Amino acid sequence: MIVTLKGWASRDAEAIERVEAVIREHELEVHEKRGTEYTVIAVIGVGDNVSACQIQLEAMDEVWKVQRISNPNKFVSRAYHTQNTAFPLNGHVLGGPEFIVMAGPCSIESEPQIMACAEVVADCGGHVLRGGAFKPRSSPYAFQGLGLDGLKLLRRAGDQFGLPVITEALAIEDLPLVEEWADIIQIGARNMQNFRLLEAVSRCKKPVMLKRGIASDVDEWLGSAEYIVRPGKTNVMLCERGIRTSDRTYTRNTLDIQAVPVLRELTHLPIIVDPSHAAGRRAYIPAMMRAAVAAGADGIIVEMHPDPPKAKSDGAQSLSFPEFRAAMTLLVPYLRLFAEERAVTLDPIVV
Ligand code: PEP
Ligand code: MN
Repeated sequence: MIVTLKGWASRDAEAIERVEAVIREHELEVHEKRGTEYTVIAVIGVGDNVSACQIQLEAMDEVWKVQRISNPNKFVSRAYHTQNTAFPLNGHVLGGPEFIVMAGPCSIESEPQIMACAEVVADCGGHVLRGGAFKPRSSPYAFQGLGLDGLKLLRRAGDQFGLPVITEALAIEDLPLVEEWADIIQIGARNMQNFRLLEAVSRCKKPVMLKRGIASDVDEWLGSAEYIVRPGKTNVMLCERGIRTSDRTYTRNTLDIQAVPVLRELTHLPIIVDPSHAAGRRAYIPAMMRAAVAAGADGIIVEMHPDPPKAKSDGAQSLSFPEFRAAMTLLVPYLRLFAEERAVTLDPIVV
């Protein structure tokens, strides 16, 4: 950690001593360097003391800025686990040599709807069926999902077409049901910083997909993932689903495709891209599906619907069946390149 003092404090021996006393109180080493204008203190040490010391230093009048050198996260970081994490999924491996396609409707609406989606997903070579039963809606008057009935329909459709299923748990109370009926637990963008929910999902055995918060930076996102990942709980993946930026004229959010290589460097967890909630318009989704493969993601999650204009949620960003089929066909040459690239990169550790 590097502490830079304010100009006045840099020339005041008593001010410097006050700062160094705080560092020593935390049993950390002080290495002081007095420059012509600023005094800089390198703080050496590891452990929880560093974070506690940082918080105290940032609140001191004498201090201009504090920079952490080491990442405060442990279990999610690349330093902790140098190889990519991967985990089995119904005969496939997520985070492994195969690009995983998850697709399905935003919300489970009826048995014919989810069955029709599952059939198309399986037929197009998709690996996982998605569908929301507990829906986070901006308005309390909007469709809230079918709850347990929806989970049962999703399970039936997945089983019928040999697809594992992913669905969102909106609250701690949903976790037992979601864990009973689904194969992957989704934590949605709005809940990325619901820390009690993150702690609770960390105790679940099933894999977890943590979506990025609507306005969260990568460090906040990894901090949230750190609540879930621990020794014995590494079947966790991250999902980039678009963030709020200045331009929302043509798209709902902006797909932060750069987050894929950034995460690849910082963490060992698998990375999924959700072009649907990023673009918000179905016309832009096939191109962003291809961008996800090219950027090196481990998979995508895409919304589709038998009749998008009649969807009870997110119809504008849901691909129709012919659109989904066409998008999957366009993906094929990219998947070939993906397989070639994975063949020469490090073998993942399957947990
Ligand atoms: C969804 O997957 O339907 C959803 C609500 O996603 P997000 O949490 O990314 O908005
Ligand atoms: Mn949706």
